[in-house]
Amino acid sequence: MNAVRPLRVAVVGAGPAGFYTAAAILSSPVDAEVDLLERLPTPWGLVRLGVAPDHPEIKSVSRVFEKTALDPAFRFFGNVEVGQDVTPEELLSIYDAVVYAVGAQTDKRMGIPGEELPGSWPATAFVAWYNGHPDYQELDFDLSCERAVVVGNGNVAVDVARLLALTRAELECTDAADAAIEQLCGSQIREIVMLGRRGPLQASFTSPELKELGELAGADIAVDPAELELDPAAEALLADERSTARRNYELLKTYSARSMHTKSKLLRLRFCTSPVELRGDGRVEEVSVVRNRLVAGADGALRAVPTEERETIRCGLVLRSVGYRGVPIEGVPFDEQLGIVPNQQGRILDGRGEPIVGLYCAGWIKRGPSGVIGTNKKDAAETVAALLDDARAGLLERSGEQLSELLAAREVRVIDYPGWQAIDARERELGAPLGRPRVKLTRWAELLEAAGGRQPPS
Ligand code: NAP
Repeated sequence: MNAVRPLRVAVVGAGPAGFYTAAAILSSPVDAEVDLLERLPTPWGLVRLGVAPDHPEIKSVSRVFEKTALDPAFRFFGNVEVGQDVTPEELLSIYDAVVYAVGAQTDKRMGIPGEELPGSWPATAFVAWYNGHPDYQELDFDLSCERAVVVGNGNVAVDVARLLALTRAELECTDAADAAIEQLCGSQIREIVMLGRRGPLQASFTSPELKELGELAGADIAVDPAELELDPAAEALLADERSTARRNYELLKTYSARSMHTKSKLLRLRFCTSPVELRGDGRVEEVSVVRNRLVAGADGALRAVPTEERETIRCGLVLRSVGYRGVPIEGVPFDEQLGIVPNQQGRILDGRGEPIVGLYCAGWIKRGPSGVIGTNKKDAAETVAALLDDARAGLLERSGEQLSELLAAREVRVIDYPGWQAIDARERELGAPLGRPRVKLTRWAELLEAAGGRQPPS
């Protein structure tokens, strides 16, 4: 190991992957310090700004991250953007190791005509808007239409479809952004159609989330029994009683038997149906969809192959929920095809496939946008194991420079952990009289003001 101790690591991105990485380093036997850099003044990443506001139990994982943040060897550098306030090269020279845990910050494209028409939005933007992300508050979602189409069959599609269907009572007790609650409550949308390109057994949503769709106070659920018909080969997939496919299918069967629709909204789940074009005069007015059949590929996985059968669904809002995608950071290798940082067990690889000494990644930017929050714990442990092996092998080095000095010289307003705690306290204070967990501050100026005038961590 290098003679200068403790080991100093910068983690970039304060979401679950960043916090699990910090925790794994700080709980190792190695004497180490972790500085966690985050572009926003607030930590927790998608736990604050992605998890649905009506799922507070999932958000409670932030309590685990709070414990890590209180470790004396941990410092939070909020409101610091890598690439803007400090370059990746500078970080690598200041720290023994840098771990990128920046998530997957944009959406995948469907690649069909009309995708860019006004009224067609990535679900990622809708999620960021209703969760109060300060960069998404100017977006203007027109909810004055009668029907919305949600493309995709993952848990994000389920989240956005459900949010469109919640009642005022269900929304008002959450920490969704105030402006979003008002707009969602005034929504004219009466029908939400969710389009899965493959069949009910291939959907990637999980059973508790699907079950919740059938228990909404203000929306009925509808599934066409014909779209649940399976061929004998597919029925074999139902053999395992504990599989998600089996549990989903049983729920879908019960939904398809519900014929009384008395609530003010209807949530319609469609399968083997793909959009092929969004059309409209200056904005989305309809979606042309095609019926798919399932065909086994060389790897055995079933793919959706379009048939000749088409139909048109009139709608004024399309939320494209077909997966997230990583965004490159200048100066850090990026695999454009996969939308991730090329890596081997978390060691970032150069163009020749060789590990770059001191550079690591964790979470969605490492493996792609999959898994639940807890998946990032194991993922981070793998990266940290590689990092500590390299430290033990004496490969890691750093200069004597300090990040805080460099940022101070550049007049960067760093929000430290007490700064975040001040934001947190203000939000909770605003929420308490309303019986809400918090009222989120959703504007940059409000967040920076609430953080107070503290000096950056020294
Ligand atoms: P996902 O689970 O990967 O789902 C993406 C969906 O988009 C799939 O149904 C996929 O269909 C479909 N799709 C992809 N390309 C398409 C296209 N061109 N046309 C039509 N459909 C297309 O991703 P996600 O929903 O964004 O979720 C990301 C991760 O976060 C997942 O691991 C999810 O479980 C997790 N998450 C969890 C929760 C929760 O636990 N409550 C909530 C939100 C998110 P194919 O299967 O055919 O590719």
